Amino acid sequence: MNGIITKAIGGLYTVEASEGIYECKARGIFRKKQISPVCGDNVEILIEKDGSCVINEIYPRKSVLIRPPLANLDILGFVCATCEPKPNLLLLDKFIVIAEYKKITPIIVFTKIDKQSSKEYSDIYKKAGIQVYEVDNLSGDGAQAVKAALQGKLSAFTGNTGVGKSSLLNNMFPQLELATNEISKKLGRGKHTTRHVELYKLDGGGYIADTPGFSSFDTNRYDIIFKDELADCFIEFRDYTDKCKFPNCSHTKEKGCAVINAVKEGKIAQSRFDSYAEMYEQAKQLKEWEFKNE
Ligand code: ZN
Repeated sequence: MNGIITKAIGGLYTVEASEGIYECKARGIFRKKQISPVCGDNVEILIEKDGSCVINEIYPRKSVLIRPPLANLDILGFVCATCEPKPNLLLLDKFIVIAEYKKITPIIVFTKIDKQSSKEYSDIYKKAGIQVYEVDNLSGDGAQAVKAALQGKLSAFTGNTGVGKSSLLNNMFPQLELATNEISKKLGRGKHTTRHVELYKLDGGGYIADTPGFSSFDTNRYDIIFKDELADCFIEFRDYTDKCKFPNCSHTKEKGCAVINAVKEGKIAQSRFDSYAEMYEQAKQLKEWEFKNE
């Protein structure tokens, strides 16, 4: 039988198959190979003679995140307030780059649009070809459009505390009562906090991942992107990178750089270029051997 892992706690996996829901353990072979099954994995399960279920095979993954542990994400949504707190565009661009690198479609949802218009920011990302949504969490306006984009997909959302991620999810899926980050907050520091991913099936197909205890997606340790791969993760650069004067152009300061010219002409947003230049500097300082074993 084939199914998808919707919950993984302490070596026990909940697998949803078309025939039903099964609690499974994983075969020892995975530990030997140092692969752990994670939520979102498409797996083959077998029912043993004693009636217990095991995960026999993990099918190839389209993508995998380590923190939170999630495989095969189609959509990663970044919830961003227009104010209080003001968006940190460098951080947002870092997340978008990670999504692009892992072949996950990024979407941005701007909240608190009743307090400040999102236009200034929306324009930057719409121009970059990224799907942008505007949601008023108080009235729920705009939430349905985001929900429609998730249909049939496996998606997850991230965003800093105070941006309205929980309100957005609850506006979209009131019946699911997603815990998001709230559980860990309520229990407080020092106590046992719930920190596991769970997938919820959506009416009309697809799943949404609830990721309580993960306040954000790890940008530093696990998702190293080397400088030569960076420009390709800025999707709006792709139209220009092969038109530069020098074939090994870093698109940071060279003469005849088509990317820089596009910034000057207003075709690429200045803030996106600034994020690229800063990330490029950071990537330059990474030594490949430091990460070889990860
Ligand atoms: Zn260039």
